[in-house]
Amino acid sequence: MSCIFCDIIERKIPAEILYENDCALSILDINPIHYGHALVIPKRHHRDFLEVEADELSGIMQAVHTVSCAIVKAFKLQGFNFFANNGAIAGQSVFHFHIHITPRYAGDNIRFVLRLKRYEPNAMEETAKTIRSAITAP
Ligand code: 5GP
Ligand code: ZN
Repeated sequence: MSCIFCDIIERKIPAEILYENDCALSILDINPIHYGHALVIPKRHHRDFLEVEADELSGIMQAVHTVSCAIVKAFKLQGFNFFANNGAIAGQSVFHFHIHITPRYAGDNIRFVLRLKRYEPNAMEETAKTIRSAITAP
């Protein structure tokens, strides 16, 4: 199975590498939201966040933290976003899990268009119960 991010991790195709630790590689996104938009990619191939294993989580987030600090410092940012798209319906286009880190600027007009809902009476409690009963992790 071919995977562009596995090829980058294995140095089979080039990328602008920003940082690397035992669990993850960080590169510049080839089509940035803003210049400096970075990706943090786990070295193990996982389709999405649900497949990531517990022993990788701290290394991945350590890379996100290190690269975020560097981007903020390098571009003297007042803010940034990090996010991940999981599943085609959520906008994922490369099916090797990755976290985006992008600079933000005043007036850049980049936003999720949110249509916020209100819970009906008791629906919030019911929703929380449904999620709590599905939790399997420690
Ligand atoms: P997704 O849409 O899956 O959340 O994000 C995939 C990201 O990978 C996109 O922002 C896209 O620009 C980036 N991307 C896709 N192919 C390549 C590539 O070959 N090199 C680099 N550096 N980024 C890529
Ligand atoms: Zn892969």
